[in-house]
Amino acid sequence: MSIWNGISNFLFGNSCIGCLRSGLPLDPWLCPDCRKELQRLARNPRHPSPDVLCLYSMTPLTKNLVHGLKYGNMPGLAGYLVNMALQERETDETLHDWGKSLAFVPVPLHPARMRERGYNQAERLAHAISRRMHGIVLQALERKSFRVSQTTLSREGRACNVAGAFEVKKRCAWPENRIPVIVDDVYTTGATTTACLYAFEKKNLGGFAKVCTLLYEESATAHVDFAADNAMEWHV
Ligand SMILES: [Zn+2]
Repeated sequence: MSIWNGISNFLFGNSCIGCLRSGLPLDPWLCPDCRKELQRLARNPRHPSPDVLCLYSMTPLTKNLVHGLKYGNMPGLAGYLVNMALQERETDETLHDWGKSLAFVPVPLHPARMRERGYNQAERLAHAISRRMHGIVLQALERKSFRVSQTTLSREGRACNVAGAFEVKKRCAWPENRIPVIVDDVYTTGATTTACLYAFEKKNLGGFAKVCTLLYEESATAHVDFAADNAMEWHV
């Protein structure tokens, strides 16, 4: 590494977000190796159920990226990750199969967390997908009360924690014929998106609702969660 690169890295912290190595050409987020790996991962979108699309699976690389998006003050990563994923035919076709008139609805952050973070990563993702799909973004949901962080809870705990946590805003006039697509960063047990779908069902808007997340996190008990989530989401 040249002295200038060393100084530059120190001043600007321009290391690869994926592998944290410095002194490599960046695009501007990833080094060539990580970019190639991300392109490979984008070729295998995940479908935890027919109406759920996850753009990438959870790997050490994508975990670092979503961490940067959520906690690293890097909202620009949303557009980068979405654009790369939507270059893949299967992802693009799945979204087009959902309909021509999609309304992307980000899972809302609690206002306290929004103040702390300054942006809602799900909203950034929703705007990035919407731009590519010529859809619209509707901030149609709100949180009803503050809940403890999902990351510290078991699967059952998560479901209880978020059940009834969202509602469709009272002043939201849903545009006719728009299909709701709930957008979130990570799909693990489906508890959060299920709670959002419940909110839409209460307004009789849930019949065609879809879910799109950036990552699919497969836990050791994912096959159990998968069956349980499907029952919760689509047959209640
Ligand atoms: Zn890298």
